[in-house]
Amino acid sequence: MKLDILAFGVHPDDVELSCAGTLMIEKLNGKKVGIIDLTKGELGTRGTAETRKQEAADSMKILGFDVRENLSMADGFLKNDEAHQLKIIAALRKYQPEIILCNAPEDRHPDHGRSSSLVEDAAFLSGLRKIETTDSGEVQEAWRPKYVFNYIQDRYLQPDFVVDITPVAERKIEAIKSFKTQFFNPELNEPQTYLSSPDFLDSVIYRSKMMGKMIGVKYAEGFISKKMIGIKSFDALIKENT
Ligand SMILES: [Zn+2]
Repeated sequence: MKLDILAFGVHPDDVELSCAGTLMIEKLNGKKVGIIDLTKGELGTRGTAETRKQEAADSMKILGFDVRENLSMADGFLKNDEAHQLKIIAALRKYQPEIILCNAPEDRHPDHGRSSSLVEDAAFLSGLRKIETTDSGEVQEAWRPKYVFNYIQDRYLQPDFVVDITPVAERKIEAIKSFKTQFFNPELNEPQTYLSSPDFLDSVIYRSKMMGKMIGVKYAEGFISKKMIGIKSFDALIKENT
């Protein structure tokens, strides 16, 4: 299946926390969208790889995206090397997205920055036809996405552009809450973490409000682009009210 937009997250829940609203908006616009989780999040203090798998599936019922895959890389130990790049290249050639979204270039969790470099490098290499990959025994065509955008997750980073997610903001929070072992849940007898305090979910909402304020809407998500974004006409800015 060809996708229009594919979001990579190193841990299941990274995409929900940072760019699920934008993906939901694009899905409503008729685009095909998907998520690839690089690891099972097996090093998380709360829950297990199995509970995270179930939670990711529960979240997908709310998000309604076309694809969610897990590449089963090692949580905490993934590297930007040939073996890891080839796995991402195979996924990019399989789904042929025009736009990919990946982790923040630097963040509280060091896996996030590493994952961003890995996905960005693989996105370039995926366009080189002499790098051979296969899918179910078939040699894959080279494919390079047109844009790679970093989403903004935990640490505040200045976005290059923001996307209005107001119509889906509540549904985004519901999807995040699918990760029952990770976030605030008074019924669970597990160690408290940075993520499991009630303040953490509040901070996700405040961040969306702050991004929204910058463009005069209620909720938004911010992105960073290393590539300059061009427009053919000012119509792109004024025909829809942003
Ligand atoms: Zn993460």
